[in-house]
Amino acid sequence: MEFDCLECGACCRGDEGWVHLDADDDARVDASAALERIVVLMDIGNGHMKRTLRMIDGACAALGKTTTGVACSIYSDRPGVCRELSAGSTQCLAARRLHGMTAD
Ligand code: SF4
Ligand code: SF4
Repeated sequence: MEFDCLECGACCRGDEGWVHLDADDDARVDASAALERIVVLMDIGNGHMKRTLRMIDGACAALGKTTTGVACSIYSDRPGVCRELSAGSTQCLAARRLHGMTAD
């Protein structure tokens, strides 16, 4: 089954820390003011911090509404973790189930 991400956005929803950045995202953050603006540091204990994207009302701050659904407002600059999650993957189906959408 094919899923349309522009009618979904389930994998862009979650608690604080859901969308995390790693070292591979350094260049993207440096190159994109829009991405850099929504990066927040999260205290994960033991003196360690991790970079995450700001969440607003349970959704990534970059997730915007369109007339027909949703869209990532920083799509070309989105972090690696977003690029790795493809429609129809196990993580996609889990996110869809979690947010009350069909997964089959
Ligand atoms: S990858 Fe899956 S969960 Fe994420 S927006 Fe697309 S269809 Fe929805
Ligand atoms: S950066 Fe874009 S693709 Fe990634 S979680 Fe946020 S809205 Fe979704």
